Amino acid sequence: MRLSQYFLPVTKDVPSDAAIVSHQLMLRAGMVRQNGAGIYSWLPLGFKVLKKIEQIVREEMDRAGAVEMLMPTLQQADLWRESGRYDDYGEEMLRITDRGGRDMLYGPTNEEMITDVFRGYVKSYKQLPLNLYHQQWKFRDEVRPRFGVMRGREFLMKDAYSFDLTEAAARVSYQKMFAAYLNTFDRLGVTAIPMQADPGPIGGDLSHEFLVLAESGESAVFCDSEVLDVPAPGLDFDFGDETALAAEMDKRTKFYAATDEKHDAAAYADVPDGRKTEARGIEVGHIFYFGTKYSEPMGAGVQDSDGNVVPIHGGSYGIGVSRLVGAIIEACHDENGIVWPASVSPFDVGLISMRPKDEACAAGCDAAYDALTAAGFETLYDETDDRAGAKFGRMDLIGLPFQIIIGPKALEKGVVELKIRKTGEREELALDAAINRMRALA
Ligand code: ATP
Ligand code: MG
Repeated sequence: MRLSQYFLPVTKDVPSDAAIVSHQLMLRAGMVRQNGAGIYSWLPLGFKVLKKIEQIVREEMDRAGAVEMLMPTLQQADLWRESGRYDDYGEEMLRITDRGGRDMLYGPTNEEMITDVFRGYVKSYKQLPLNLYHQQWKFRDEVRPRFGVMRGREFLMKDAYSFDLTEAAARVSYQKMFAAYLNTFDRLGVTAIPMQADPGPIGGDLSHEFLVLAESGESAVFCDSEVLDVPAPGLDFDFGDETALAAEMDKRTKFYAATDEKHDAAAYADVPDGRKTEARGIEVGHIFYFGTKYSEPMGAGVQDSDGNVVPIHGGSYGIGVSRLVGAIIEACHDENGIVWPASVSPFDVGLISMRPKDEACAAGCDAAYDALTAAGFETLYDETDDRAGAKFGRMDLIGLPFQIIIGPKALEKGVVELKIRKTGEREELALDAAINRMRALA
């Protein structure tokens, strides 16, 4: 992409209510534009990152056996009356009336709707287990939308829903999502710690929140630092192996980790000194087992092997896809701007032409652009007339992992300058060598 043909409205104007660094950087880097309280347009650069996150989430859901679909944002109030949540949900729900006077709402979550889809088609235990998911915009009329996309009112969520015949089977479905989440966050370049969460009215021990540590996090976190070092299950993990699934959960839950809401000072006191970690965290995912909470009132049952119709055991599994854009920046930035993990970076490399008006330099840069593209690197090519300092500052701000800088002198020597954004390290080498070096590091 040639920068002169792109839309990258970087700016120095950041409103004073942008209190945290990710919000400031997203505005400065021209990733989002606020349209109303907690409502944002995703500008091209931000949208690219959002899509990359969405794709990684999709691949890891698919790998764990979940099946993608898409439900609408607008829902009928009547479905929510069936579960009893229409009245319970409160003021966070945006309620709408259509021209026919029917009560509708902008979905804050989709348990009711997916249960309706399920009961319309699935009648036998033989069709289970089933896990359906989508990535769709939600609306919650938060009291205090803030921190940019981290606590928006309209936000993108991945929500998956599992259906099983028994509680034991539902536990396995839960463990699959638990393992898939660890791989997902690992691929996104962040460490998310699973912490026991409030399972809500159903009880039981099956609810975990996944938190990324960051100073701006809304939750206080207490954990045993050992939990940070447990490696993700890995992309070759066998989701069919029930022993391995249970082990993945145990490997982490054996270490103390809790948010302030669930903190148990007595249990924390047993964590060895030197491993006690008190920090702040951002909730990027939340998984629940809720049994028959929706299937019972909504009549979502299947025939078991004896021919009896029994309500299914359900779980739901959310990931804050749009919140993650902010959360990743909170975890990955420095004083000059964003430092994207390669997996979610909007472009792989930024190419800076130092003298776009110099014919030889322009030709050399054009050739480099073609070579980088042919080598599979998505390249943002800055061939604008801006000052060198402005170009460097902008490229650092938007945080692509690599920069290739080409000026007339380097061209004469047959080299380019490769800059590694994360370390600031710069090196002069032939373009081919730079491509190999980027491949090795990516
Ligand atoms: P929170 O405690 O942060 O309000 P929640 O517990 O209400 O979140 P869930 O219903 O568990 O959220 O939603 C699943 C995920 O969606 C959360 O883990 C979070 O990452 C994301 N999410 C929830 N609310 C918002 C929001 N207002 N803006 C952006 N992302 C959100
Ligand atoms: Mg939650």
